[in-house]
Amino acid sequence: IKESLFGCLVLAFLQGFTMNRNKREKEYYSIDVGDSTFTVLKRYQNLRPIGSGAQGIVCSAYDHNLERNVAIKKLSRPFQNQTHAKRAYRELVLMKCVNHKNIIGLLNVFTPQKTLEEFQDVYLVMELMDANLCQVIQMELDHERLSYLLYQMLCGIKHLHAAGIIHRDLKPSNIVVKSDCTLKILDFGLARTAATGLLMTPYVVTRYYRAPEVILGMGYQANVDIWAVGCIMAEMVRHKILFPGRDYIDQWNKVIEQLGTPSQDFLMKLNQSVRTYVENRPRYAGYSFEKLFPDVLFPADSDHNKLKASQARDLLSKMLVIDASKRISVDEALQHPYINVWYDPTEVEAVSNPPPMITDKQLDEREHTVEEWKELIYKEVLDWEERTKNGVIRGQPASIAQVQQ
Ligand code: AMP
Repeated sequence: IKESLFGCLVLAFLQGFTMNRNKREKEYYSIDVGDSTFTVLKRYQNLRPIGSGAQGIVCSAYDHNLERNVAIKKLSRPFQNQTHAKRAYRELVLMKCVNHKNIIGLLNVFTPQKTLEEFQDVYLVMELMDANLCQVIQMELDHERLSYLLYQMLCGIKHLHAAGIIHRDLKPSNIVVKSDCTLKILDFGLARTAATGLLMTPYVVTRYYRAPEVILGMGYQANVDIWAVGCIMAEMVRHKILFPGRDYIDQWNKVIEQLGTPSQDFLMKLNQSVRTYVENRPRYAGYSFEKLFPDVLFPADSDHNKLKASQARDLLSKMLVIDASKRISVDEALQHPYINVWYDPTEVEAVSNPPPMITDKQLDEREHTVEEWKELIYKEVLDWEERTKNGVIRGQPASIAQVQQ
């Protein structure tokens, strides 16, 4: 009796397994998008390419379950090398636990492959936005819209900082907006131990928005992200990239030509070889902010607008400061007269959603083989499936809990 009962159980298990497998196969379909093939759950229909980045292609789609449009990003073999793997893992873990209206939210994660051995691609389903900031930069914005976009960037950055994430790589292509002027940050920037410059894709990394302390390899603090906000604000006003360097050297030239050679006490903070290089550049006096950002760049048809233009220029002059110790902080920027008109404590302090603190050790200081990365990323995908099955969408990811043990 025991043997036949065991036999029945094994048979039932195998049948169940085959049924699940067949069901899973039927849940997916493949469609070509540009040079790539997306294999997605059938609930996602009407896929159209909307963008591409270092990690791959992003599509818009209609989600029949949620009855709304979504964005789907395909990460192709994200474990293929250290750089890709670290970024994909970091993004997956952080997106799962950060919850703020100015940071892109994750709606679903899946892989069409059925086992770890077959595992290839991860699909991230996110809220769909209308455009990235590169497209907005072309537009003539009034002060209301410009200051509201900046306010939201600062709220998102403040929330990231509260979670222990200093971005260091904010740029217009990683910030998305909707036509109602709402804004979200798309990614989590550079890992502290990121192998910059060694990215093994033909994709060109944009470095125009990186702060002097990143360009010059110095230590940095939270207001490193204010520099990028300053560069983005300047570009929205000028409709031209502020410091369009071909490389870091050219970029440093662009910075000092406009802002002037920094003072001796800044140079003393550089390491010897960088200091020698910086000291040997021609000396520049730089231009005043009135010259760099003259009135004609701002809407100025009323007294109200004149006041706003001078406030905007004042904010630019406090953000675009080479020496980070003299640069405005995120909190100070949120209190600046150009920005604080929008101040809402629930958005700024996000009291209802305190972010979990994520330390470097848990994420950035991880070195793994390709096989280990593959397993770690696969586990994060399965963990998502498990948690959403139980109706839990956000919370501490399984892997962090494991690392802490
Ligand atoms: P990424 O691979 O995250 O750097 O995204 C590349 C581009 O895809 C972005 O610059 C956006 O133009 C677009 N994009 C990514 N995610 C979204 C989204 N959730 N909504 C709208 N567009 C997006």
